[in-house]
Amino acid sequence: MEIKKYTNKDVGFGNMYIIITNDEFLVVDPCVNASNVISHIKGKKCKGIFLTHAHFDHFCEIESWLDFGKVFLHQNAYIKLQNASENASTLFGAEAKIDLAENQVIFAEENMIITVGDKKAKVMEFFGHTDCSVGLLFNSDLFCGDFIFAGGNIGRYDLPTGSAFQMRNSLRKLKSLNENITVHAGHGEDFLLKDFNKNMFY
Ligand SMILES: [Zn+2]
Repeated sequence: MEIKKYTNKDVGFGNMYIIITNDEFLVVDPCVNASNVISHIKGKKCKGIFLTHAHFDHFCEIESWLDFGKVFLHQNAYIKLQNASENASTLFGAEAKIDLAENQVIFAEENMIITVGDKKAKVMEFFGHTDCSVGLLFNSDLFCGDFIFAGGNIGRYDLPTGSAFQMRNSLRKLKSLNENITVHAGHGEDFLLKDFNKNMFY
């Protein structure tokens, strides 16, 4: 499995990842324009576009990806894409309202399995930063959006639909995972789960 990482330095330094296995790829958080990375995925089949949560700095280039495949996202994110204050685009001086048709989306929920090439990933709900925050867990790689970050920080939970209570529950869920998995966050660098601040689990 190959993981390519791109960062949009103009819109909040959001990370986009492209996961490639065999001849198939999955885009995680479409915040970099497809035309900028097309040469890296040429000839490969798109499994879809996975959205970790509906915040603008993670989906700001989604329209450039819609011809490639369907969007995997939590049901709560689907509504939020159409609401500029809830999707935080107003924080970035934009008024983004993305209206996806029902046949353009696949709702991602806890324990759903997404297959990319010969690799399987499990969807995990990590609410707290938003009520639509979902992660994607491959064998030893977790894509977690703004749930947790390198250095032991957690995503802010004071934005619309954020919840300290749900964040605490999500951190408890995280504790059950293998500490040797690599975490690929929505901002910043990759890190091993064992290097995450253990004090956050309690
Ligand atoms: Zn966010």
